[in-house]
Amino acid sequence: MLPGLIVGGEMISSFRRNFLSGAAAFVATAALAPVRAQVTAKPKTRLVLLGTGGGPRIVAPGRSKSANLIVANGVPYVVDCGEGVAHQMVRAGVALSALRYIFITHHHSDHNLDYGNLVYDAWAAGLRAAVEAYGPPPIKAMTEAYWQLNRFDIETRIGDESRPDLRKLVTAHEFNAPGLVMQNADVKVTAARVRHPPIVHAYAYRFDAADRSIVISGDTTTSPELIALAKDADVLVSEVMHLGGLEALLKKVPNAATLRGHLLASHIVTQDLGKLAAAAGVKTLVLTHFVPPDDNSITDDMWTEGVRKHYKGEIIVGRDLMEI
Ligand SMILES: [Zn+2]
Ligand SMILES: [Zn+2]
Repeated sequence: MLPGLIVGGEMISSFRRNFLSGAAAFVATAALAPVRAQVTAKPKTRLVLLGTGGGPRIVAPGRSKSANLIVANGVPYVVDCGEGVAHQMVRAGVALSALRYIFITHHHSDHNLDYGNLVYDAWAAGLRAAVEAYGPPPIKAMTEAYWQLNRFDIETRIGDESRPDLRKLVTAHEFNAPGLVMQNADVKVTAARVRHPPIVHAYAYRFDAADRSIVISGDTTTSPELIALAKDADVLVSEVMHLGGLEALLKKVPNAATLRGHLLASHIVTQDLGKLAAAAGVKTLVLTHFVPPDDNSITDDMWTEGVRKHYKGEIIVGRDLMEI
C-alpha cells in the first residue's frame, strides 16, 4: 500500500480489472509465476484519469471534467481541476487531506473551475500540510479572489474549529514561460507552451519519475512544442476531438460557425493526434478530454481509427477513474 493513501472500491476494481485482463492474457501462454512477475512489474508511479470530458461544464450525466492524478512515491500530483475533481479523487481512493501539489494547464473553466474548491475540500478533510499550486497567470489573482469569496467561512472556521489558516497553507506559483516548473526527490516537472488560441499561456506538463515519464497535453492543436516535450515519453495523455462527432454537435448550436472555427484552431483531431504521437515516439497514447464528451454513438474504434493511421504504439481510450 502506498503511504498516505486510502484504497477505495473504485481503485480496487480498477486494479482488479487491469490485473484480471493481464492475467487472462498471460494464463493462456504461461504458468502462474509469470503472472505474479507481471503484476509486481507494474510501474510504481501511478496515473489515474479523474475526468476525461472536454468543454465547458454542462450539468448532465457523463464524463467528469478535465483532471488527472499522478501518484509518485505515495504523493498525489493533481493536473487540472475541472468540475468534480475532489469527488473524483475520493472515488479514486486518495484522501483529500493528502493533497500537496496542483498544476493547472490553462484557465479555461473545464480545467480550473474546482481549483479553489479542491483546496477547500482538502482543508475540510483535515489538510494540515502545505499545498503548492503551479500555473500560468492569473493563478495568483484567482487564489486571492477565492480567499475573498470565502473569507467569511474560512475565518469563522479558523476561530470556531481551531483549523489552520488555509490561506497560509496554499502557495500559488505563477509562471509565464516554458521550462522547469518544479523538482523534488521524486519527480521533475517541465512545461511546454502549447497552441490553444486565443489563450497565450496554455501549457503541457511532463512528469519524469524514476520509473516512468508521463506527459499531460492540456488543450492544444498540433504543437511542435508538445512533440518536443513528449519525446520518447512512456505515456502521453492527450486531448482529442472527433471531426464527425464535432459536426453533429455543431448542428445543435446557434453559434456553429464561430464555435467550429475555435475548435479546429485550438484542438486536435484524431488523425493529427496520430501524427503527433508518432513524431514524439511515445510508447503509449491515452485519449482524454473528448470533444464531443458524451456522444455514445462514437465508439472506441471510431476514436482510435484516425489515430491508428499514423501511430503504431499502444492507444488507450480513456475513461473516468481508469488507472494506467
Ligand atoms: Zn478544455
Ligand atoms: Zn481550453
